[in-house]
Amino acid sequence: MDRLAATMGQPRDDVRGESRPPLFSQFEMEANQFKDFAKEMIDYVSGYLENIRDRRVLPTVEPGYLRPLIPDSAPVVPDKWEDVMADIERVIMPGVTHWHSPRFHAYFPTANSYPAIVADILSGAIACIGFTWIASPACTELEVVMLDWLGKMIGLPDEFLACSGGKGGGVIQGTASEATLVALLGAKARAIADVKREKPEMSDADIVAKLVGYTSSQSHSSVERAGLLGGIKLRSLQPDDNNRLRGEALELAIKEDREAGLIPFYAVATLGTTSSCTFDHLEELGPVCNANNVWLHVDAAYAGSAFICPEFRYLMKGIERADSFNFNPHKWLLVNFDCSTMWLKDPSWLVNAFNVDPLYLKHEQQGAAPDYRHWQIPLGRRFRALKLWFVLRLYGIENLQAHIRKHIELAHYFESLVRSDERFEITEEVLMGLVCFRLKNSNEVNEALLKRLNGRGVIHLVPSKIRDVYFLRLAICSRFTEKEDIDISWKEVKDTADEILKK
Ligand code: PLP
Repeated sequence: MDRLAATMGQPRDDVRGESRPPLFSQFEMEANQFKDFAKEMIDYVSGYLENIRDRRVLPTVEPGYLRPLIPDSAPVVPDKWEDVMADIERVIMPGVTHWHSPRFHAYFPTANSYPAIVADILSGAIACIGFTWIASPACTELEVVMLDWLGKMIGLPDEFLACSGGKGGGVIQGTASEATLVALLGAKARAIADVKREKPEMSDADIVAKLVGYTSSQSHSSVERAGLLGGIKLRSLQPDDNNRLRGEALELAIKEDREAGLIPFYAVATLGTTSSCTFDHLEELGPVCNANNVWLHVDAAYAGSAFICPEFRYLMKGIERADSFNFNPHKWLLVNFDCSTMWLKDPSWLVNAFNVDPLYLKHEQQGAAPDYRHWQIPLGRRFRALKLWFVLRLYGIENLQAHIRKHIELAHYFESLVRSDERFEITEEVLMGLVCFRLKNSNEVNEALLKRLNGRGVIHLVPSKIRDVYFLRLAICSRFTEKEDIDISWKEVKDTADEILKK
């Protein structure tokens, strides 16, 4: 009986009645074979990305398609690498939605680049868990500096940057949803401390029951979810006719709530809403928040990347009044998921709120550098700053700016094509890489248009609805997208509309 079979409690020949490769120790396997697998995978990856246009963007599989394609349980003896590779096309690719195809126009983009992919390989090799400084000093220190680099690139005020020598600094969260929740928890800790200073007789529970936060009805669902997870009331306010949350609406809501005995403490403004990529009026909201001791968090998940181009920074005017700011380089800045960057003017509210200090996590340098475990929900964290570093260095600011500008130009090109066909209308001003449009017809006809478009499988879009008006959203997503791709997408929309309107 050989070693592996012995550990599995059965003779090896009973496991599989054919000749098998010799058993390797873990070390030998890695040394002899696995490193070559990595090289082969890189070739597969480049082939996949270079030829991605040839694949149907949306799969046709049904739920449950995958289980019958693979065995019921894990193999006792190792599978062959060739079989694993072959199964990528047989098992996985039929069920993949190709987010990096130029035909993919749904949601918002998710980023992809070779510099980020190779940095992730390195991160996978180092495989540290950087929850404290000493757990892997480079992991923390590179993150601190990268958040300064990126903060400078988008023109964030010095108060948010660690290099300013003040309290401020940045951190990489996994997602914008986590950033919104973390900011809410920091705001909650600050509000409880503030109220207790004036009314020490109030219990935490009494204070929390009175806390109220604010956001726009157009903000992302993750904001409402942060309220639910954080156990506080969040009011959804009506934006103006251009779908922007304005200072007056916020001020009125705060006044009403104060009169009702509630404690306003938190507001979320969105720069680049998911539905239609509109921008809340930060310049008006900031002063209202500051005057009322309300923590202002800014969610710029998608559009924040555009602020690396100075010509788009007018859309973040008023940012100096915010307490926290977040955007996702993993959406539009060529850094693969996950990399959601967040800056805080005073992270001590998080550090104090989330500080539990068991002996096994203490270290001698505590306080000299951030222990990022206090800035986030989980304890563990990957070395994500590496991919930011690689992307910023290997593209340089110039090329990243060119990437953003190109996507916005392509969106304007698609807009011009839509405007050239009088059956269609643009429903929202095009500012970034998103075009909102519809047939000048009923919601039902537009729903039918989208259903047929997605059914044809050449391009993929998702809809949205504002004030009961249903429209289609076309986001420029792939870094490979060229003008010719947009021509193909427009032809597909036009041809499908011909079919729908002929019926
Ligand atoms: N906020 C906005 C404006 C978004 O558009 C999105 C996702 O598209 C999110 C938040 C949620 O992002 P995440 O998946 O990083 O939590």
